[in-house]
Amino acid sequence: MNRTAPPSPAPSHTDPSEADAFLVAAHALFGTRGLTSDPERMDAWLTDWRGRYTGRALALASPASTFEVAALVKLCAGHGVPIVPQGGNSGMAGGATPDTSGHAIILSLRRMNAIRSLSADGCQVVCEAGVILQTLHEAAEAAGMRFPLTLGGKGSATIGGLISTNAGGTQVLRHGTMRAQVLGLEAVLADGQVLDLMTPLKKDNRGFDLKQLLIGSEGTLGIITAATLRLLPAATGRATAWVGLGGIVEARALLGRVERALGDALEGFEVVPAHCLDSVLAHQPQGRAPLAERHAWNALIESVSPAQDSTALRDGMETALAQAMEAGLVADAVIAANDSQAEAFWELRDGISAAERALGPAMQHDISVPVERMPEFILAAVPDIEASFDGTRAVAFGHLGDGNVHFHVLAPTGAVRGVWEEAEGKAVSARVHDLVTRWGGSISAEHGIGQMKTGELARLHDPVALAVMTRVKQALDPANLLNPGKLLQSGKRN
Ligand SMILES: Cc1cc2nc3c(=O)[nH]c(=O)nc-3n(C[C@H](O)[C@H](O)[C@H](O)COP(=O)(O)OP(=O)(O)OC[C@H]3O[C@@H](n4cnc5c(N)ncnc54)[C@H](O)[C@@H]3O)c2cc1C
Repeated sequence: MNRTAPPSPAPSHTDPSEADAFLVAAHALFGTRGLTSDPERMDAWLTDWRGRYTGRALALASPASTFEVAALVKLCAGHGVPIVPQGGNSGMAGGATPDTSGHAIILSLRRMNAIRSLSADGCQVVCEAGVILQTLHEAAEAAGMRFPLTLGGKGSATIGGLISTNAGGTQVLRHGTMRAQVLGLEAVLADGQVLDLMTPLKKDNRGFDLKQLLIGSEGTLGIITAATLRLLPAATGRATAWVGLGGIVEARALLGRVERALGDALEGFEVVPAHCLDSVLAHQPQGRAPLAERHAWNALIESVSPAQDSTALRDGMETALAQAMEAGLVADAVIAANDSQAEAFWELRDGISAAERALGPAMQHDISVPVERMPEFILAAVPDIEASFDGTRAVAFGHLGDGNVHFHVLAPTGAVRGVWEEAEGKAVSARVHDLVTRWGGSISAEHGIGQMKTGELARLHDPVALAVMTRVKQALDPANLLNPGKLLQSGKRN
């Protein structure tokens, strides 16, 4: 049931001469470097990272400055051309992929990749939207600082994309999502005006926090062109432990203990069920099980500090784990002796998605529930799904410390990729999302709604919240030209 009125329908180009007129004007503005409508040059950017969606586009525009973005957006507004903003195209929800009409342009921010300034004293960096996360990490490191957000797609994901999806990653437990890293923002609005909120003010009570409105809006409210981001002093010490546990209830209890014992140093707490570790070890020839015995659940715990060295952090971790062992929570544990062993633990964790993919078709869900309810949720949802869909196997792994797990439902043995998802996928996901909603959780903890979950958001989100979101969209983008059909269900094209 769709409980809210959809945003205005996006205009369509029934008149090809209008599209031609737009292309002529856009070419005049950008020349060949900044604009192409050559299908071969656009091809790589028309399919999403997971390969689920392929669209068509009128052109691919790659402006080199905020001024050029603003000029392009004004041109699009004048000709009624929808815009699909795109960064590294590493998003998981099809948000950066145009629809199949071929009416929209892709607005790529990849050429806007300058780090405008970096201040170690001020603990901040000013960068353009197209800066790749890995590049930002390297720049911060060179200045003796660190940017406290990382994720598996860091070699492709851009700052604009990370802000637009409010990305998370493996350090959210301590440092928060992208929302917590953004001190200032610059964006081009649907009418081509530049919204300059770049000055980082610790205290500012001049009404609505508009930058927070744009964060997580998935390109539907404005084009992010630059941001001021916070930096932290580089870490001097690190301790990483792999822990064997009897169950997910013990994992939650251990999380509470290490939060109290390690305080601010605790940066990551990931859980890995035995099935996922088995899959990774089968898939990674170089992978080694960290512990001698197989345990029903494993936890990967990391503490990091700019003030303590690794020896002190390892001592703290060892004491906390020894006490948890005495309390009967921990079956076995090993603390990485050095960085390369710590990296080997993280490779096991980061290898889960690829290993699960190699097993066959699956439906992936990126969900959250309140942290304290996560064990109860997993213990109820896994058997529920396996009983509801014959032959499936449900696994939950990931960021227990954030109340966010990847909930994958693996197809029965022998199921054919593409066919099973088509036949069963929608029902499987609906069941998972119903359970998540019953537990007071979110159907998207990290990856966003994109074009993948618009129907589920409309079906399950609070109707009042949806109505407010729709009104905000209508106010900021009345012609529905910014990423139509993403996040909120858009009206049908004329
Ligand atoms: C291996 C791998 C691991 C990942 N792990 C995680 C994880 O742990 N946590 C997590 O949260 N995500 C994760 N992701 C998802 C992904 O990295 C994020 O969604 C990322 O934020 C997308 O950045 P991008 O530049 O590739 O954006 P794109 O994919 O290009 O776009 C994503 C969305 O943002 C919009 N957008 C992009 N740039 C702009 C802009 N400048 N202005 C306005 N809108 C814009 C697009 O229209 C689209 O809706 C992972 C991805 C991969 C490939």
